[in-house]
Amino acid sequence: MIQPTLHKHPAFLAPRSTTMTSKRTIFIPYHPKTILNKHKRADHWFWTRYSAYPYIGCQHGCEFCYCREQKYSPYDDPNDFSYLIKVKENAPELLRRALSRTPVDLIFTGDYQAAERKFEVSRRMLEVCRDLGFPVFVLERAPLVLRELDLLREINARAPSIVAFSIISTPDSPHYPEVCRMEHLAPPAAKRFAAMEKFAAAGILTGICMMPILPGLCDSDANLEAVVRWTAQHGGRFVLASSLTLSDQQKDYFLGVLGARFPGLLGLYQRLYPPQSYAPADYPWRRIALKIREYCEKYGIRDRAPRPIIPGEKRARNKRVVEKLADQLYAMELNGESNHRIWAYRKAAWAVEDLEQDIGLIYRNMGLKGLQSIPNIGASLGKAVERMLTEIAS
Ligand code: SF4
Repeated sequence: MIQPTLHKHPAFLAPRSTTMTSKRTIFIPYHPKTILNKHKRADHWFWTRYSAYPYIGCQHGCEFCYCREQKYSPYDDPNDFSYLIKVKENAPELLRRALSRTPVDLIFTGDYQAAERKFEVSRRMLEVCRDLGFPVFVLERAPLVLRELDLLREINARAPSIVAFSIISTPDSPHYPEVCRMEHLAPPAAKRFAAMEKFAAAGILTGICMMPILPGLCDSDANLEAVVRWTAQHGGRFVLASSLTLSDQQKDYFLGVLGARFPGLLGLYQRLYPPQSYAPADYPWRRIALKIREYCEKYGIRDRAPRPIIPGEKRARNKRVVEKLADQLYAMELNGESNHRIWAYRKAAWAVEDLEQDIGLIYRNMGLKGLQSIPNIGASLGKAVERMLTEIAS
């Protein structure tokens, strides 16, 4: 258990603006040794290669939040996660040092919980990204991120970026008041949609992460369609969705909330999340994801985030091919194709991501044989990659 130490600055002890508890938020000054997480490759959902976070803990305190899991939360009590907020005071300086010797690529950053009004660590980290030309992926539950509209516009002008919002329900949705309550101190989804519209109007790519989809509360067709429709109507270009995971102390905490507030749902969750499970077992995830795809097509948006390409990027074609391979493998997952085929596409995407040379140049010089000589592409996927290159060229 980490012992909190109080800072002398009055901002480090703030009254909690909620009637639900008498607990006060404690801000703990924290000086990590490193800030930048580097991933071997860009992931196929957000396309980020790096991540850097300004705070540990989140005042929003969403009751389903996976950050209450032991592996993410430094506290034994799952409640502490939203009341003991570690402020990484030296994050901007660490980030500047780390990024100045790192190849430019998309970085996941930003956190606009209420603490950010006072500490402005996220803002200063974004300034570093702007100064060094790094594009960003910001994912938010708080419209406070609008404060940085000009700064994000500057970042986006240099390298295309994404500002997405976490939204799982809309004012038109069947359980909107109940879901808002589960998001605890996060501002209502309607405000996030309004913020999203402003980013879209500023020419910044925006969309929704519908995460997590809560069984029995957010997975009805009515809610799925409402979220997609509201996203399209507010300038969003994509909806990324995933189901709820539950583990260790976070699971106990969330089932406790359900038992107290939605006792009728407890049986469903106990069946979906038996002991030792993490993702829901025997849950119609593919049907839900296909419904989201159907609604996205209906409203003219996508269920995948477009991959931002940095101007002058030497391996832009490689990144485009990886994007197409990842889109294809997601479609295969939705269609229930064999794991063997899906893994073949995943490995091919990794091989192209790792390629030092421009794949277009390989194709120009060596044709189909050149593509087939790339490890994990081989004879079977060479033709598919060739088609993708033709599509990209046109
Ligand atoms: S906004 Fe909610 S889900 Fe996201 S980190 Fe904070 S508490 Fe967790």
